[in-house]
Amino acid sequence: MNDIIQNLQKIRARIRRAAEKSGRNPESVRLVAVSKTVKAETVRQAIAAGVTILGESYIQEARSKISALPLPPDSISWHFIGHLQTNKARDAVRLFSLIHSVDSFKLAAALNREAEKIDKVQSILVQVNIAAESSKSGIASQEVQNLIAEITTLKSVKVIGLMTIPPYFDNPEKARPYFDELRSLRDRVQKNLNAESTPDLSLDELSMGMSGDFEAAIAAGATLVRIGTAIFGERN
Ligand SMILES: *Cc1c(COP(=O)(O)O)cnc(C)c1O
Repeated sequence: MNDIIQNLQKIRARIRRAAEKSGRNPESVRLVAVSKTVKAETVRQAIAAGVTILGESYIQEARSKISALPLPPDSISWHFIGHLQTNKARDAVRLFSLIHSVDSFKLAAALNREAEKIDKVQSILVQVNIAAESSKSGIASQEVQNLIAEITTLKSVKVIGLMTIPPYFDNPEKARPYFDELRSLRDRVQKNLNAESTPDLSLDELSMGMSGDFEAAIAAGATLVRIGTAIFGERN
């Protein structure tokens, strides 16, 4: 049995335990296997071991990897989790079923234009810089509601939740307050917008938690955990 299969078994067991511990259905947490810098051949092994969602951070790398995997089954989906430039919107809507990292109206509008051209409604998450770190992408918490209200005027993109990357801590429990904050921000924004302008808006997805802190994120309500290193090993 190779490492990837073993790693996946361990991760799945940890996801299940974390969900059960906080009284959640383990099925409500989906694993995004982050395959940035990982070779197509290795991604193929992960798919064979049952991975169904792959996360990539770079458009060029993702494009060549996706085309190198012969006839990926329909049950596989690719998510974009990196910083996205407006001029890559065209590729992004063609390659990815969910884009986790939308943090401006300009980017949402570019995705809307490109999605419309191919008759697609592009699902997106709004990335929030919850700790207001200058080094990180993402929109400030106070701006999330207005941005989402603006995006809901676009016909070919659909916001389905929020994403965040908290500061790094050696002790994952220290990241917990940031995860809790994303969840309460989501609850607040959804409630306000439902009452105001968009009764059918539903921000079901919370993309939070990585190799070092996904259990804390699950306890706080994560529905998508983005895990790379703990599956594929250290990146070079
Ligand atoms: C690389 C990356 C991950 C995966 O991080 P690991 O620590 O390797 O699990 C998750 N989310 C984003 C946005 C990333 O860029």
